Amino acid sequence: MIDQKIQDHTKKILKVAAQIDAELSNGESKTVQCPICGNDMLAGKSAFNGHVWAVCKKCGASFMQ
Ligand SMILES: [Zn+2]
Repeated sequence: MIDQKIQDHTKKILKVAAQIDAELSNGESKTVQCPICGNDMLAGKSAFNGHVWAVCKKCGASFMQ
C-alpha cells in the first residue's frame, strides 16, 4: 500500500531538487525553503559530479540526486 503523504513529500522534494539543479552551478550552495516544514534548507551542487543535495535544518528532510 502506498502512503499518500510520503508520495506528496517526494514530489515536493523532487520539485525543489530540479529548481536547485537549474539555479546552481557545480560547487555552489544556497539556502532554500524546505518544501516539508518551510524552514531553511541548505542545498548544494557537488563540484565533483554535479549531484544535487539538500538537508533541512529543522525537520531533517534530505535528499541526494
Ligand atoms: Zn524541513
